[in-house]
Amino acid sequence: MSEVLVLVDHVDGAVRKPTYELLAIAKRLGEPSAVFIGAADKAESAAADLAKYGAEKIYTVDDAEVKGYLVAPKAEVLQQVAEAAGSDGPAAILIVSSGEGKEIAGRLAIKLGSGLITDAVDVDGEGNTTQSVFAGSYTVKAKVTKGTPIITVKPNSASAEESAGAGTVEQFSATISDAAKAARIVASNPRQASGRPELSEAAIVVSGGRGTGGDFAPVEGLADALGAAVGASRAAVDSGWQPHALQIGQTGKVVSPQLYVAAGISGAIQHRAGMQTSKTIVAINKDEEAPIFELVDFGVVGDLHSVLPAAAEAVEKRK
Ligand code: FAD
Repeated sequence: MSEVLVLVDHVDGAVRKPTYELLAIAKRLGEPSAVFIGAADKAESAAADLAKYGAEKIYTVDDAEVKGYLVAPKAEVLQQVAEAAGSDGPAAILIVSSGEGKEIAGRLAIKLGSGLITDAVDVDGEGNTTQSVFAGSYTVKAKVTKGTPIITVKPNSASAEESAGAGTVEQFSATISDAAKAARIVASNPRQASGRPELSEAAIVVSGGRGTGGDFAPVEGLADALGAAVGASRAAVDSGWQPHALQIGQTGKVVSPQLYVAAGISGAIQHRAGMQTSKTIVAINKDEEAPIFELVDFGVVGDLHSVLPAAAEAVEKRK
């Protein structure tokens, strides 16, 4: 069986959930191999975690020459791992559909002369991908026809499944060209942590819109009860109630959680573009004619200021 390379998305060696989801998809296509680019002293524990989720092989690449630069060196590392995989190359290369992931994938596709598909929400065992395009108004099935398929997959497109893989660790030394080091990072300041999950990979998102009137406490209360991330409509962001980083939609983030709760959001097409691939959609709106009710699985006609606290209380009671 051919290997399927999965680029590991991690923070300081702590593997992020979307990587485990990619390993589950990799298993459909062949033999999952993870590529960990990071500090050498973090590789062992990351490899143990990756093996738990089915990685048969883990290539560990010391990031001494990679960190401090933008993404070009990572694309070179992946190219070299792929080329070392033999004349046929890997069966596929899977990367998380983040901004960075898509840039790495684009550069890698050029280097390998391969076809590239971005923002897949599903990949079957034959390499057929599903994408949701044009603000979610079309579902497209596509397949790479040239070279090694390179596919970026959105978080929450598959379930992370624990299933032990061999976890054989192979240290890989890559050579980084001067050209790849053309852009250096001069400063990097992490956003203050909210304690909530990262929006684009959260399993549950609770979003608020203009209907909050600027009071996001009920939205945050339900989010915290559910262990969810907080999102916002553009109206809420434009009003200065939430930062742009939390905007969901055509000009914000695209999320695809298991559960999306929209409170005080009318359901404009541009907002839908960012959330309509969510598995279950719940809306709370005081206007029963609000367009958001056209796409919900469960709708509540009511004032979010009373419905959300009641829902949060009910969730807390069940814990
Ligand atoms: P509104 O449309 O004003 O809806 C507020 C809703 O709250 C109403 O349905 C109302 O009935 C309800 N409500 C009021 N009070 C309560 C209450 N107490 N309890 C319950 N319900 C209540 N929008 C985005 O969200 N994301 C984008 O990325 C985005 N990109 C855009 C790009 C372009 C090029 C353009 C033109 C627009 C874009 N928009 C985007 C804006 C979009 O068209 C809408 O204007 C916006 O989504 C509306 O936000 P909203 O639903 O919060 O506000």
